[in-house]
Amino acid sequence: MVLKNIVQAIKHIYDGPPVTRRYPEVPSELPDRFRGLQKLDKSECIGCGICASTCPNNAIKIVRDKVSKDNDKRRWFPAIDISHCMFCGLCIDQCPKDALSSTKVYTTGVIRWTHEELLYTPDMLARETPIGEEE
Ligand code: SF4
Ligand code: SF4
Repeated sequence: MVLKNIVQAIKHIYDGPPVTRRYPEVPSELPDRFRGLQKLDKSECIGCGICASTCPNNAIKIVRDKVSKDNDKRRWFPAIDISHCMFCGLCIDQCPKDALSSTKVYTTGVIRWTHEELLYTPDMLARETPIGEEE
């Protein structure tokens, strides 16, 4: 069995197209319904907390934050601990205002060195604070 697999691997060096992908140099094509890092539309969010109570991993906290970059008034918005998120999409599905959506970001925006960097504030979720290169 092992020998058979080795022979197969050697044959593939010379025959046919490669079966592996050169990710991340060549990004994978993602389906339209791919669930990646969430995006928040602060102008739609009413701070109801349904996303937080829906999250099966308790990854969402509702926190007070500035309404926008140009408006210092404070309101309630979700913040997500991405290290606890399994990208199930329930927070997006249950939001009554469609304030949360999914993006195709799953590596550049999500892989970080420390836990603190994975605590996405409302500003980060709204991309008012840049989160780094997005796919
Ligand atoms: S994102 Fe949606 S569900 Fe979450 S607090 Fe805002 S309006 Fe409510
Ligand atoms: S995608 Fe799922 S696990 Fe992640 S924050 Fe939303 S509800 Fe929680």
